[in-house]
Amino acid sequence: MGRVEGKVAFITGAARGQGRSHALRLAEEGADIIAVDICNQVGTVKYPMATSEDLQQTVKDVEALDRRIVAVEADVRDLSALKAAVDQGVAELGRLDIVCGNAGIAGFGPADELTDEEWGDMLDINLTGVWHTAKAAIPHLKAGGNGGSIILTSSTAGLMAIENLAHYVAAKHGVVGLMRALALELAPDMIRVNSVHPTSVNTDMIHNSATYKLFAPDLDSPTREQIGERFRTLNALPIDWVEARDISNAVLFLASDEARYITGVTLPVDAGSTTK
Ligand code: NDP
Repeated sequence: MGRVEGKVAFITGAARGQGRSHALRLAEEGADIIAVDICNQVGTVKYPMATSEDLQQTVKDVEALDRRIVAVEADVRDLSALKAAVDQGVAELGRLDIVCGNAGIAGFGPADELTDEEWGDMLDINLTGVWHTAKAAIPHLKAGGNGGSIILTSSTAGLMAIENLAHYVAAKHGVVGLMRALALELAPDMIRVNSVHPTSVNTDMIHNSATYKLFAPDLDSPTREQIGERFRTLNALPIDWVEARDISNAVLFLASDEARYITGVTLPVDAGSTTK
């Protein structure tokens, strides 16, 4: 028996990175997957975003594990598209138990230099998009009558300030407030709500020239190794970054019955960075 055998998980941002990793880890442990991703570029994002081919790769990878997957291209900013995606997934897969509000973007700049558009996209995707994810899923979780587990992806930037990320920090702190309010509201239905707080994760979100410029403004074309040294200074454990699977293991734990009485917590997977 897998740790989430027979359950269905709805995951946003599932085309690549942590979202794909969550889909695979949960599928390995017996869950079927509803995968959503925008598969398109957001105007203010300065690194290449995922594609339809990326989402199709997630589909292939989940199917290779003999689990079912319903994949829909939808933007978390569009509540009706998101609702339609979850409704379709539940109609095909029969139930909903686990929700991963993972989709997100990154952007950088001093607070007084951020544009309205940069601020708007960040809050719309990284905070309102997470609320939309919960809103689209909650009726299905309640109707199922089996409780459930909602896991919202925040960041270490949801627990502490980081310079040049004011909009990201504000959105990720907002996710914590949303998580706590949802945890109280949904407790009577045995629906648990928690957040995870990764330190730097080895995904495309950090490995791009825009992020490299932020961490190494003094180097013209920094190598991965040089960037790793800069990222390492954030962590207490002497590592550059964690892998997506490290976050997926935390998500799996929170999704599983092993965490059946854990709700309303902020779980760092941060190599000690918030303790420094
Ligand atoms: P990726 O960029 O690899 O993955 C993010 C995914 O979210 C992409 O597939 C992206 O799709 C999707 N997405 C973005 N905007 C939307 C949208 N409007 N609607 C639907 N899907 C969307 O990065 P990660 O996997 O690393 O990031 C996952 C989460 O982890 C994010 O919330 C991020 O903020 C958080 N996080 C990341 C850290 C890191 O160091 N990588 C550290 C701490 C937290 P597309 O590319 O097509 O837009």
